[in-house]
Amino acid sequence: MAKKFTVDDMLTTMKLTDRVYVLMEAYSWDHRFPIGVIVGDTKAFVLDSGYGLAGNIREYIEKNITDKPLVCICLHGHLDHASGAILFDERYLNERDWPTLEEGLKIERRLKMMSSFALGDPDIEEFCRNHAIDCTGVTFKNVDDGDVFEDGDLKLEVIAMPGHSKGQIAVNIPSEKYCFVSDAILKRTHFDNASREDIGAYAAVVENFINRVAADTILINGHEQSYVGGYGWPLTMDLAKDLKTACEDVYNGRVEGDAVKPEFFPGQWEQRGKTFTHVVGKASLLYSERIFK
Ligand SMILES: [Zn+2]
Ligand SMILES: [Zn+2]
Repeated sequence: MAKKFTVDDMLTTMKLTDRVYVLMEAYSWDHRFPIGVIVGDTKAFVLDSGYGLAGNIREYIEKNITDKPLVCICLHGHLDHASGAILFDERYLNERDWPTLEEGLKIERRLKMMSSFALGDPDIEEFCRNHAIDCTGVTFKNVDDGDVFEDGDLKLEVIAMPGHSKGQIAVNIPSEKYCFVSDAILKRTHFDNASREDIGAYAAVVENFINRVAADTILINGHEQSYVGGYGWPLTMDLAKDLKTACEDVYNGRVEGDAVKPEFFPGQWEQRGKTFTHVVGKASLLYSERIFK
């Protein structure tokens, strides 16, 4: 008999400090979206909001982490990060990502891509169809570089990191030595839809980030948090430095010997050109062959 999935199969929580929790939305062993829950004295901040198909994350947080009022800050507006935001009463997202929301968060679009994230598991897909959150009409307040969210001694600092999306931000929590970076700094950073100039410009964005975040900070990103997931190495600021170097290398054409990466979704190469991977230390940067034409 097929296993019947419940919300508790899809969502798990890890406590990193007294204030910092990571709620993991897991669609398969390979596709798990970490959502930060930062608990202050009078309220808690939810950083990113997942793919919106794994159940009601607000109810889950209220039951398992904190009963304080929740403020949701989406670090960018893509469907795997902003689709649970409508569940929260107070929501923030940088305005440069607002124009793509209506099309981007549509249920049909999320269900169509589901199979890639669930690695074709029919039971998970059925669960997701039954738990899909409708994001129609969701609105946000703006959040931008230099903004600070405060609650007592707790401070969350916003750093703009345009590149992966125009409105991408990181949220640094200096007192906890954790920084949530969503898709701004991944071990495998996708620039397969970006121009060479975009990739060059991103080196400066990452350099600004490195200058504003303490060197002993641990990064929690939006897809592959090996540290909290219990495998691999913690993501340190070395990853940011390696990514900056990778951007500089690709911009300057220092890409000899880079390998081709297979298609992630059908038609990807036709749409974006063949994807190559440039590796520096802990960072891989994916770029299209078309940037050199
Ligand atoms: Zn994204
Ligand atoms: Zn993402």
